[in-house]
Amino acid sequence: MTTTVNAYAAHAADQPLAPTTIERREVGPKDVRIEIEFAGICHSDIHTARGEWGAVTYPIVVGHEIAGVVAEVGPEVTKHAVGDRVGVGCMVDSCRECVNCRRGQEQYCLKGNIQTYNGIGVDGQPTAGGYSQQIVVDEDFVVRIPDGLELHVAAPLLCAGITLYSPLRHWGAGPGTKVAIVGLGGLGHVGVKIAAALGAEVTVLSQSLKKQEDGLRLGAQHYHATSDPDTFTALAGTFDLIVNTVSAAIDLDAYLSLLAVDGALVNVGAPAEPLSVNIFSLIPQRRSFAGSSIGGIAETQEMLDFCAEHGIGAEVEVISAEQVNDAWERVLASDVRYRFVIDAATLA
Ligand code: NAP
Ligand code: ZN
Ligand code: ZN
Repeated sequence: MTTTVNAYAAHAADQPLAPTTIERREVGPKDVRIEIEFAGICHSDIHTARGEWGAVTYPIVVGHEIAGVVAEVGPEVTKHAVGDRVGVGCMVDSCRECVNCRRGQEQYCLKGNIQTYNGIGVDGQPTAGGYSQQIVVDEDFVVRIPDGLELHVAAPLLCAGITLYSPLRHWGAGPGTKVAIVGLGGLGHVGVKIAAALGAEVTVLSQSLKKQEDGLRLGAQHYHATSDPDTFTALAGTFDLIVNTVSAAIDLDAYLSLLAVDGALVNVGAPAEPLSVNIFSLIPQRRSFAGSSIGGIAETQEMLDFCAEHGIGAEVEVISAEQVNDAWERVLASDVRYRFVIDAATLA
């Protein structure tokens, strides 16, 4: 039997989110039922619900930064127990058989992983995300939240945290490397903290200097405004790695010019429109332009353990569910300090 729970849903691309109820599947042998305590608001929630990335099945309940407590486990569950503090990110399952799944890179599943929302779940029903009271997920796609991390600051790590941790590790951010983070929003501010904890020399490239004090407090050594054309001449050829978190299209050639020889510009920001690159921004200094998607489940656990060890949580503004539409507008206006997190108790 399914369980009816409260949620907030978008009923169309141009409609505000509104309260509703959804059905959660019965806990299967390997499933975990999670009582959601906090759900982060990711810019991807907005891109998706507003139809910017393609087809959406409405009504849709978004949210893929989920932190909560295990309320029920199926008889074959071994990884989690009732009362455990756990998290769920952007995926709830994958094929588990393809070469990428077998390598622990479920985010790159060749058959397409099952997304936490706007996917089709193992029960054949549309998946629904974290803006709800409960979620039922296979235990293999549920991670442990270490004791040192409070749930409200841990929730955003499930997407923002892993989305920055994975490329920072993959492209070798650490002592002796110069890393720039473009955009000090939800992803960017966690990226600054993680890159600093990895030992890199961190620079924030933001539209203005409005958040400079925060950027330096979060661990950046340098902070520059991209609205100032001098920034691009002063920093030419500087960085080993630039991670671009901006949700809109930027002038890639201008940012590529900031890379040192062999440097990489990695786009995690996911604007809907195509971007263009002048190949002569890459050739002369053997530069790369790449993308990166979240991280695998084992890597997500590693990231949470790393964050707990280094005292890294997101800087959050906890809101009630009824404030979600205002919060979305503030995200769109780059007026978020630095992640909105819905207190799921307000859905009751
Ligand atoms: P966010 O909180 O809105 O942060 C984006 C930041 O980019 C803003 O705070 C702002 O920072 C800057 N920005 C926004 N508009 C800009 C513009 N027109 N020009 C220059 N800078 C601008 O969003 P988020 O939740 O961090 O997500 C960022 C992007 O990453 C979204 O596109 C999201 O869908 C994507 N994403 C991708 C993955 C992945 O796996 N690849 C995972 C999660 C999210 P400043 O004010 O400091 O300039
Ligand atoms: Zn996200
Ligand atoms: Zn697979």
